[in-house]
Amino acid sequence: MLDALLLRRPSPVLPAGLAPGSLLDRALGAYLGLAIGDALGATVEFMTPREIAAKHGVHRHMSGGGWLKLAPGQVTDDTTMSLALGKAILEADGWCMRAVAEAFVAWLRGKPVDCGNTCRRGIRRYMADGSHAGPAGDGDAGNGAVMRNLPVVLATLHDEPAFEARSLAQAHFTHHNALSDAATLICGRLLRRLLHGGRLADCRPLADAFVATHPQFRFQPYPGRASGYVVDTLQTVFHFTFGEAGFEAALIGAVNRGDDADTTAALVGMLHGAQCGAGALPRQWLDKLDRDIAAAIVAQTTALLALAARQRR
Ligand code: MG
Ligand code: MG
Repeated sequence: MLDALLLRRPSPVLPAGLAPGSLLDRALGAYLGLAIGDALGATVEFMTPREIAAKHGVHRHMSGGGWLKLAPGQVTDDTTMSLALGKAILEADGWCMRAVAEAFVAWLRGKPVDCGNTCRRGIRRYMADGSHAGPAGDGDAGNGAVMRNLPVVLATLHDEPAFEARSLAQAHFTHHNALSDAATLICGRLLRRLLHGGRLADCRPLADAFVATHPQFRFQPYPGRASGYVVDTLQTVFHFTFGEAGFEAALIGAVNRGDDADTTAALVGMLHGAQCGAGALPRQWLDKLDRDIAAAIVAQTTALLALAARQRR
């Protein structure tokens, strides 16, 4: 009873008076949904579904732990790299690839709780030679570029050519690969549609058209792999995003597949969160999210939407 009363109070994480269904509600739903997926999934990152079942039954509590020994509600590189990218966009008041590069360097120097190998290699390449992209290669087909692209989508919400160009520019800093590019752009396009008021049902034809032109990403029947290879990641994201009716069920489905669970769940949380809005995010997760991270997300989302409105084309 007390729990029910507490849950009916406005979340301390969200701005007062947030209008349900507003653009800010949907954008915050996406960004906080990404962080929730990251924090929930990190507990079971690199575990198999069988190991998760043996240890947790069904993993559904934001309990921290995992291979990174996280505090409950703590996020990982998926969220903190996104925040670094968003901060660079705001400081440049638009776009400056050098600012993005320096933000990723500062992020790495800040000793993040984790960092993918391909991301680390790309940042170190820039530190050594100042280049904004490495050569295209098969070894760059991880999910590191797609996982952090949300701030670019917000900042370019009313400028599609800028969305495409800047998404690929930030991607190629660490991941220069056609599969990564395709995944980064389709996830961005789905998010754009949701932020512009679409529903996931409206996104499904986009995903189906994407699979028709990029058959490697076919997700029906679901192959069942959820690794950091961007094809496995996206198949899992699409399977649970389109296969489950709501935020909570989709996220629980994704995290219990294990493997790169923080990243698959972050992307599922981003898409479902954009549909349901921040006000409808499950309170047992939203209120447990690291408070400093949640506050940074709220401030950054508001500023990125304002930037997008100023730079509307
Ligand atoms: Mg991570
Ligand atoms: Mg991960």
